[in-house]
Amino acid sequence: MRGVTTNDEHTASGGELRRNPVNGKLTIVAPGRAARPSDLHAAAAAGATDPCPFCAGNEALTPPEVDAVRPGGGPDSSGWRIRVVPNKYPALAGMHEVIVHSPDHEAELEDLGDEGLLEVLEVWRRRIAAQLDAGAAAATLIVNRGPGAGASLSHPHAQLLGTPVVPPLLLDELLEFERFRNRYGGCVLCAEIDGVGDRVVHAGDIAAWVPAAARFPGELWLAPKIHEPDVRRADLRPLAGALRRALVAVDAATGGAALNLWLHTAPAELRGTYHWHLELAPRLSSIAGLELGADIALVTVEPEAAAEALRASWPQG
Ligand SMILES: [Zn+2]
Ligand SMILES: [Zn+2]
Ligand SMILES: [Zn+2]
Repeated sequence: MRGVTTNDEHTASGGELRRNPVNGKLTIVAPGRAARPSDLHAAAAAGATDPCPFCAGNEALTPPEVDAVRPGGGPDSSGWRIRVVPNKYPALAGMHEVIVHSPDHEAELEDLGDEGLLEVLEVWRRRIAAQLDAGAAAATLIVNRGPGAGASLSHPHAQLLGTPVVPPLLLDELLEFERFRNRYGGCVLCAEIDGVGDRVVHAGDIAAWVPAAARFPGELWLAPKIHEPDVRRADLRPLAGALRRALVAVDAATGGAALNLWLHTAPAELRGTYHWHLELAPRLSSIAGLELGADIALVTVEPEAAAEALRASWPQG
């Protein structure tokens, strides 16, 4: 929609968070992001060859780094293993970071091995802590994989968004935790893991399961079996092994579908109870009118059958 959604006059200084008073939904109005590069865009596929800003050697194409794992070399030079830069086209100024998982343009998270993935998770956690320490009310970490999941650059990376308010989905979860605690006592997510039955995909220090009311076919949740609200206190080593296997299993069970992944952790000021977790959402179908008009998902794969397929694809090694 030329003239409606794009405006090259705007600078990429960050958007404005607005709330619709009729339904309470939030929108970030960020015209500057329309100018961001995309190597997944049809034009790029047709032959445009913009250099990838996340590849080693192209450090000058990003804003100066704010964090990195590098055995040698100085800031903004090559030699890094993981690199964190402010998003050049931030949704919200100062609160939107990109975590580049590897200098390798092709290496997905599951290709980094358990040790490499552990190092990435440590950086995720460090940056979440930095956002919360800097005054964000909550920090949301997301990975978009594939154009069908909204990714604009194919080089594997995560985005971390600090927000001055608790996002509505996290707020909904906090209310459900509170409601459960008032009614039954304890933690709703601990109860969910205990009662998962045939929707279990993997049982270990990190549980992996399909929610009974999964919103996406092949949706998979990961959480520590031992109750813990805040990922800043998580034991990341078992998570690295479980997440690597989960990514392999989801990819195999969905035929390499586009994927969104997000991490939910307690907000800066937690009043009730919470239990941190990761949600993996394969994008086999697009969001349609029922989702948008009623906020009701419709899946055509039984969660129990999806769990069986994911168990069959779960790597043993
Ligand atoms: Zn690259
Ligand atoms: Zn719990
Ligand atoms: Zn969640």
